[in-house]
Amino acid sequence: MSEVLNIEELFGKNVFTIEKMRVRLPRGVYHEVRRVMEEGGELSKTSADIVAKAMKDWAVENGATHFTHWFQPLTGITAEKHDSFVTHPDDEGRMLLEFKGKELIKGEPDASSFPSGGLRATFEARGYTAWDITSPAFLKEDATGKILCIPTAFCSYTGEALDKKTPLLRSEEVISEQALRIVRLFGNTEAKKVTSSVGIEQEYFLIDREKYLKRPDLIFSGRTLYGAMPPKGQELEDHYFGAIRERIGAYMKDLNIELWKLGVTAKTQHNEVAPAQHELAPIYESGNVAVDHNQLVMETMKKVAGRHGLMCLLHEKPFAGVNGSGKHDNWSLVTDNGMNMLDPGLTPNENIQFLLVLACTIKAVDEHADLLRQSAADVGNDHRLGADEAPPAIISVFLGDQLEDVVRQLASTGKARKAKNGGKLETGVSTLPELDRDATDRNRTSPFAFTGNKFEFRMVGSSDSVAGPNTTLNAIVAESFAEAADRLENTDDFDMEVHDLIKEYLTDHQRIIFNGDGYSDEWVKEAERRGLPNIKSMVESVQALLSKKSVAMFEKFKIFTKAELASRAEILYETYSKSINIEAMTMLDMAGKQIIPAAMKYSGKLAEYLTAIKNAGGDTTVHVELLKQCTSELAKMRKAEEKLRKDLEKANKSADGKKKAEFYRDVICADMAALRTPADALEMIVEKDMWPFPTYGDILFEV
Ligand code: ADP
Ligand code: MG
Repeated sequence: MSEVLNIEELFGKNVFTIEKMRVRLPRGVYHEVRRVMEEGGELSKTSADIVAKAMKDWAVENGATHFTHWFQPLTGITAEKHDSFVTHPDDEGRMLLEFKGKELIKGEPDASSFPSGGLRATFEARGYTAWDITSPAFLKEDATGKILCIPTAFCSYTGEALDKKTPLLRSEEVISEQALRIVRLFGNTEAKKVTSSVGIEQEYFLIDREKYLKRPDLIFSGRTLYGAMPPKGQELEDHYFGAIRERIGAYMKDLNIELWKLGVTAKTQHNEVAPAQHELAPIYESGNVAVDHNQLVMETMKKVAGRHGLMCLLHEKPFAGVNGSGKHDNWSLVTDNGMNMLDPGLTPNENIQFLLVLACTIKAVDEHADLLRQSAADVGNDHRLGADEAPPAIISVFLGDQLEDVVRQLASTGKARKAKNGGKLETGVSTLPELDRDATDRNRTSPFAFTGNKFEFRMVGSSDSVAGPNTTLNAIVAESFAEAADRLENTDDFDMEVHDLIKEYLTDHQRIIFNGDGYSDEWVKEAERRGLPNIKSMVESVQALLSKKSVAMFEKFKIFTKAELASRAEILYETYSKSINIEAMTMLDMAGKQIIPAAMKYSGKLAEYLTAIKNAGGDTTVHVELLKQCTSELAKMRKAEEKLRKDLEKANKSADGKKKAEFYRDVICADMAALRTPADALEMIVEKDMWPFPTYGDILFEV
């Protein structure tokens, strides 16, 4: 315990930071890099060579042997293929390490096995990786040694996105362009760029590795597919914010160190609601970097767990009946001269801009609720959204009492009044009240909550990439900014027009605002009455990508082509079917090889005892009863097993991606539930020592 941690020294140690570039690059090249980072474009070939050499020298000085283009294919996780810096030895057999500009800028992995949803077949077989200069290169440090990782986008030869980063980068450009139009209207002539600011709160479970390794369901599918509820769950709420146990504390400390070295600003850590559940949140940063960093957070969480004999579960619902995990995507828009567009500000002028941004966001969320819902859909999240622990599957916006009141006033004050006070517009609430910005979750049941100077999108699943949600947010808000700017740039009476526009948007889209309890059944009915979509499953959500209005929006802003959207839809259906298929196969495997044999053994033992006791003239009522119960549950399992097996055969006959996914969702999931019920009942009967794997109680309370 004597070692002293120096965060200032650790932070960014494994990152090729801007500072390191400033020190290591010739002035001119450094400025060229900064310009390209800020304004886009490409480095000249000579500069790229110089940057590559400086990057390699730094990496090698720090022990790196390989480099990789680090990218985010549509699997949702990251991919890397390592190449060492080794080159052809010279005449005397000496090795001179090399890394050229062209290797930095472009890569050509043999990427034919990544999901492309038919895209690559249509266009071009190869995938290319292209350096994303806006996200810093870093060193990954593990048993493989040290690897220089270069964040890249992954595209086809003709530029179709085969990954999650490309559309995100496109959406960042689009939101910048449209948001600038808005701030210009309010007299900001200095800003040259607007970026999203994103802070991700990440939930996770930590369990003992030995126990994990005894559960095929956790190994193959990331969640338990069987398991009776333990006597204690989370009802006492004694875990939430509880003191952190030594073993977990040691893990968190190690995790922080690794993340700080990678330039991730790990900030907050605490125990979460469920037993064995925890959370980590870094400080917000630009959207693109935040998305990359969230991938690193997830990877590092898993890696560090291994060192502590632990396993980190990122699945959205590892344990039925116990809270699952999500992540909160905190999102705002900031100009490069430091103005947060979601900050109400202090002057009436700032207030009006804020109200306009708010109105545009509300409109965007209402018009594209289905897309936003889709962006948070993944296989695991189906177990959370709409259950009593995560936001409902219905998108609504929470504003808080104060702001909702302002919005109501604005929407109801008759026609736009042009009563001017000292040249300032009378908004009806000339300056906004100082809004409460307490840091606690004031409404944990809302999927999309305004929290003082940002929106918090709380639907995202814990294992999912946040690229999709942020791409969607940027896109839909850019669309409503564009529409507002079209009107406001062409009016003779700006004050009147902006007032009308805010009023109109808030009136037309008031239905999406909801401050009440999102978990209640009344809300489901109320939402239906308001005409808000209630999209209950991932499979159902996919069609939002292909609707006319989505395609039109994404194509207008060149964020996705129709073909890219179709490919994504195809992959989502496929991913769903494959994941459920794995779960079903795992259940059959565990039923056949573990649970049924254990239950038969136990009933055999019961029968033996029964005969013995009977021969001895004892009372066998309980034995008979238990034996009956046991064999009856066994029979139910056998029947459910048969049905699941037959239905799986049927499922795999369908060639249509959507239909197949629907079959998995409707038929296979029901079959799986039917198989689980008797198995969980058996767990409560069979002798503990005979049960073939650790139970919920063993896993959740004995970390
Ligand atoms: P909570 O009460 O939900 O835990 P916090 O204040 O801890 O909220 O913030 C959660 C996350 O939101 C953190 O990652 C934080 O850095 C981020 N955050 C704070 N302000 C902003 C902002 N303006 N834009 C985006 N993210 C932000
Ligand atoms: Mg939060």
